[in-house]
Amino acid sequence: MRRIGIIGGMSAESTALYYAALNAAVRRQLGGLHSADLVLRSLDFAPIAALQAEGRWEEAGAILAAAARDLERAGAEMVLVSANTMHKVIGQVEAATRLSVLHIADATGEAITRAGLSRPGLIATAFTMEQPFYAERLRKRFGLDVVIPAADDRARVHAIIYDELCRGLVTEASRAEYVAVAARLVRGGADCVILGCTEVG
Ligand code: GLU
Repeated sequence: MRRIGIIGGMSAESTALYYAALNAAVRRQLGGLHSADLVLRSLDFAPIAALQAEGRWEEAGAILAAAARDLERAGAEMVLVSANTMHKVIGQVEAATRLSVLHIADATGEAITRAGLSRPGLIATAFTMEQPFYAERLRKRFGLDVVIPAADDRARVHAIIYDELCRGLVTEASRAEYVAVAARLVRGGADCVILGCTEVG
């Protein structure tokens, strides 16, 4: 089994989901008492979220690059970033390590293509919905036509992620808001919806 290196903590709420999912997948494949061989470098999210909000992406990327080097030293054999938004700085992560780096948009694009779908709606942070680093990759590499929510929906989706979900708060009211946003994406022509921010799932 190859040892997976995870750059996590963004937020810790979502990293717990990756940890559980990876272990469940290994158990499914290998059975018995098998579990994932992995190294987790879990970062403090507060300073990273502050850098995101201030548009200081290069400094945030440097933190992730250092984490990738930590993982390599700890014996990881590949690296993944267990968050969508920070894929904005994936180039800095790739430059920091000799290990292969899995890109979350590629895994998503492959799954959508396999399912025979082509017009995904995107529910994510404002950074991921509004900047090209995620949707453009889906367009260019997979020919997908990404549908983005309207401006007021984007603002609400973003606020719920940072004010509630990343703090471990899940409310029925916000769940209903997300369902409504997803329904509007489908009415706008989406044939599936990407929960492009792990906490949303
Ligand atoms: N974990 C989230 C994501 O998948 C949002 C938190 C962040 O801004 O990194 O994008």
